[in-house]
Amino acid sequence: MMAPVPSIDRELSAARIARDIDTLSGRDYTTSAEAIRRYAYTPEYRRTLDYVGAQLRSLGFDVSEDPVGTLIARNRPAGEPVFGVGSHCDSNRNGGRYDGTMGVVTALEVCRLDAEHRLGLPLQLISFLEEEGSGFGQMLLGSRIMLQRVSEQELRESFRSVDDGRSFWEHAEAAGYEPARWRESIHALDDLTGWIEMHIEQARVLQDTENRIGIVDAIAGYVHADVLVRGRGDHAGATPMDLRLDPTLVLAETALELERLATEAGQGTVGTIGEIDIDPGLINAIASSVRFSLDIRGPVNDAYRGVADAIGAFAVGAARRRGMTAEFRIRQTLAVTPLDGAIVAALEEAARATGEPFRRMHSGAAHDTMCVADRVPSAMVFVPCKEGISHHPDEEADPADAALAAEIIVRAIATLGDG
Ligand SMILES: [Zn+2]
Repeated sequence: MMAPVPSIDRELSAARIARDIDTLSGRDYTTSAEAIRRYAYTPEYRRTLDYVGAQLRSLGFDVSEDPVGTLIARNRPAGEPVFGVGSHCDSNRNGGRYDGTMGVVTALEVCRLDAEHRLGLPLQLISFLEEEGSGFGQMLLGSRIMLQRVSEQELRESFRSVDDGRSFWEHAEAAGYEPARWRESIHALDDLTGWIEMHIEQARVLQDTENRIGIVDAIAGYVHADVLVRGRGDHAGATPMDLRLDPTLVLAETALELERLATEAGQGTVGTIGEIDIDPGLINAIASSVRFSLDIRGPVNDAYRGVADAIGAFAVGAARRRGMTAEFRIRQTLAVTPLDGAIVAALEEAARATGEPFRRMHSGAAHDTMCVADRVPSAMVFVPCKEGISHHPDEEADPADAALAAEIIVRAIATLGDG
């Protein structure tokens, strides 16, 4: 039986979260003087895990690491059910103080509140390795290893350090880990009855709607694709307008149609052309070919997939109408990750009880929770970040919002445990 949650001193929580963030922004914890830059198997990352681990040990948690370096800490012996909280504390190469790290220190604050108020919540904190992919160019690497969404060949051979080209395997071994046991990472999820990850929103929805908390009920799925349009390279001055096969016009038409299709699909569907390669890319040359990328996402599979199919067909048709050819190639697709209704409801109830403004929303960005949710009922909590800036030293979020999130998570876990 868990104790009822008493009133929580949010200012104290905010001060502790601010102190953790300040500490982990110090020179011992980043390899760059201009940004937060920390990633797997660097001394700065090691010190970050040591700091978080020491804080948890002082609360009586048993702290360990999985065979590749994901940190796991629990306040119940193995085999007993626990509720999972956490995020990642590696950063982008030009990162800020809050992405991931604020989720880990908020999870740490959940553990502190449990200890301080003797709530008796069975907890397990996880800080995932290499969420941002800064070390080896592989996003969500720690959680993908845990969920066995990688192959041994990739870990041994294909995944290589951005800095020195040596393999992930070699680096993990040099850091004292046992990558040969990577398949055992999955056992970190064995006893989890649920999972909540707190993260900064990385967009402006909460800020612009004046909400302090976002309760995330789904993580967007996506289609990543390329369109290659072949026209005819000619001289920009000497070729009359009616004698041109200019592939940039197909790009222009497709960009507008993508906006129209995504808007019409609604339900959170978004479409973006993020990369454009124009060949030869000279001011006085009509391009011979254009390649552009498509990133089409949303929390409703049929909606964003419909847009992807339609825009591919549109680009091919637009090229044909102009006497050119276009190819539409899918790079990667990933389905929507639905989050758990009962945990989302418990978080909403807890948020409502605080009287602070919150909203339900989906996550457009990818998170480790996408992997965890495959095995464990999961949800996420977002807090606003200033102007939606993330992956940049200007990233800013308010420890007071994180403290509110910690309280909501504590109350939700307590309710779920009693349910
Ligand atoms: Zn993150």
